[in-house]
Amino acid sequence: MGQIKTAGEIAAMREAGRVVATALQRMRQMADVGVSLRELDRAAADVLADAGATSAFLGYHPRWAPTPFPGVICASVNDAVVHGIPTGYRLQDGDLVSIDFGAFLDGWCGDSAISFTVGAASPEDQQLIEATEQAMLRGIEAARVGNKMGDIAYAIGGAARRAGYGLLADHGGHGVGRAMHEDPHVPNDGRPGRGIKLLPGLVIAIEPMLILGGKDGYVPDDDGWTLRSANGRRAAHFEHTIAITADGPEILTLP
Ligand code: MG
Ligand code: MG
Repeated sequence: MGQIKTAGEIAAMREAGRVVATALQRMRQMADVGVSLRELDRAAADVLADAGATSAFLGYHPRWAPTPFPGVICASVNDAVVHGIPTGYRLQDGDLVSIDFGAFLDGWCGDSAISFTVGAASPEDQQLIEATEQAMLRGIEAARVGNKMGDIAYAIGGAARRAGYGLLADHGGHGVGRAMHEDPHVPNDGRPGRGIKLLPGLVIAIEPMLILGGKDGYVPDDDGWTLRSANGRRAAHFEHTIAITADGPEILTLP
């Protein structure tokens, strides 16, 4: 069971979330053909500095990673699903980009992700992006007192599967608080009515990762971080940090 946050703690997390949303908004505006992932990373670092916030990603070093993460954003392009490194790669016409960004402000974390295309988008990519955002919104809608974790998983997974997409295997959302990754795990697929009860004050990240072609498999890149779809197809990722309240779900990562 994750830690239950007070109204005051949720208010502090809303401020952290605002910084995250502001940076994502800035990167979305900036991203275009010819712009490098490193330039987007620098823009996000500037937002952190201006807000007196710190990165949740830079230097992050989980057991499975060969090196500490070298950027403040994850930038995953095309068949990269998540955990892409913000290199000097310059965006090309028709690229599908997913940006994941986390920040700490006053000791509280916000975690959010968006996906978009640059230049001329293919209808297939546009539909994938819309379906991924919809799956996230369905999951948020199910994040209500009286429901269980399985109801969120079923809402996300059902939306993705019905539309024929894969869901990145072994990955899902998580509790958020003083740390970026807290209990409980938030699965992106599952059966309704199962799992822990959703209580007021639970703060979680809801983050579907959808893949074209209906398969869930992935392969790690040689860089040790990037996870690419095993079928080589494109993927999209959306994420919000939300608080479950007596009045319903509240998205904390808004500008
Ligand atoms: Mg994230
Ligand atoms: Mg997350």
